[in-house]
Amino acid sequence: MGTVDPVGGDPSRDTTADRAYRLGVLLGDGIGPEIVPAAVRVVDAALAASGAAPVDWQELPVGAAAIDEHGSALPPATLEALAGLDGWLLGPHDSAAYPEPHRSRLNPSGALRKHFDLYANVRPARGFGTGRAIAPDTDLVMVRENTEGFYADRNTFAGTGEYMPTPDVAVCMGIFTRPAVERTARIAFELAMRRRQRLTIVHKANVLQLSSGLFKKVCLEVARDYPDVAVDDFHIDAMTVHLLRRAADFDVLVAENMFGDILSDMTGELAGSLGIAPSINASDDRCMAQAAHGSAPDIAGRGLANPIAMILSSGMLLDWLGTRHGDERLRDAAARVESGVRAAVLAGVSTRDLGGSASTDGFTDAVVGRIAAA
Ligand code: NAD
Repeated sequence: MGTVDPVGGDPSRDTTADRAYRLGVLLGDGIGPEIVPAAVRVVDAALAASGAAPVDWQELPVGAAAIDEHGSALPPATLEALAGLDGWLLGPHDSAAYPEPHRSRLNPSGALRKHFDLYANVRPARGFGTGRAIAPDTDLVMVRENTEGFYADRNTFAGTGEYMPTPDVAVCMGIFTRPAVERTARIAFELAMRRRQRLTIVHKANVLQLSSGLFKKVCLEVARDYPDVAVDDFHIDAMTVHLLRRAADFDVLVAENMFGDILSDMTGELAGSLGIAPSINASDDRCMAQAAHGSAPDIAGRGLANPIAMILSSGMLLDWLGTRHGDERLRDAAARVESGVRAAVLAGVSTRDLGGSASTDGFTDAVVGRIAAA
């Protein structure tokens, strides 16, 4: 997905073409064991079609299965192994259903973002022009600050920013820091420069003048370095209305952690379905592919899940790696992932959420077949 590459990377760091990348596979819960293997199949097909070396996949335990086998939803051995890999695919977790004490702990995806400082969550919303989409011409990217903001469970070094002084009082602490906002804003502006040069800051600075106010102020300061980007800003509540009415007018959005999370579910659905909403979580040197949606327990195990979000997320990871390592074959494979998905949907193959009748595997077969034939 060349147009959504987020953290340009430094191509001078490693220009080893044809190297075999080592990627982790974390299946997760619910529909994870259905959609993550689908993404692996599509990546393998795209790499083969572009002449790149095959990925060395390493499956690692996470989620409910890891609780059963290792006593932790994110075992230390998984963290250690991930640190030595080039990137990984994370399936959704059903942390709301974990037994205590695991349910009260930071969920695996929040813990991974925090542990590896994956500060930029890049979430494109691009439709297929299909009839069921609320706003089929949506083509935007949410850049969400991923390490602090209103998600109090992950915004402290030790402990949590959410606590209960008494059984009847709950306190939730939002944190906004200039460096964290600035680095995320830069990712958003760089992305806007490679797209339609428009950026919208989402905030609530009219009420939360200091915290959300700092977020807006720092974004506007970064804007001075990007005079070619047209900048506007909206309050989060008004932003929902603007997106519902005219999603196609927006290009890149930048928002704090919770606002970005909520809005990106909505933009995914506007574009067609939450099931097509991909994302990567990136630092300057690491990248995790992860669908924007959750574990969908209501449809898990029935072959109904749409694998598109996970597949496109994996394509974004390939593009991120290709840019970082100056590996054009990997970037070519990333483009093939996206065009394979698009070709399958435009040929009328889709899962139930998009109005079709294909199973998860059936849709994946259609994508793999198109990539191989291209
Ligand atoms: P959800 O995203 O799992 O599901 C919301 C709705 O969207 C459901 O109707 C579901 O069937 C549908 N949906 C989601 N993904 C789909 C797909 N690929 N194909 C077709 N339909 C899809 O949200 P939820 O129900 O609020 O959460 C369920 C669990 O997931 C909870 O335990 C929650 O904590 C967890 N969760 C995890 C993540 C993550 O892993 N990053 C994100 C959000 C929620």
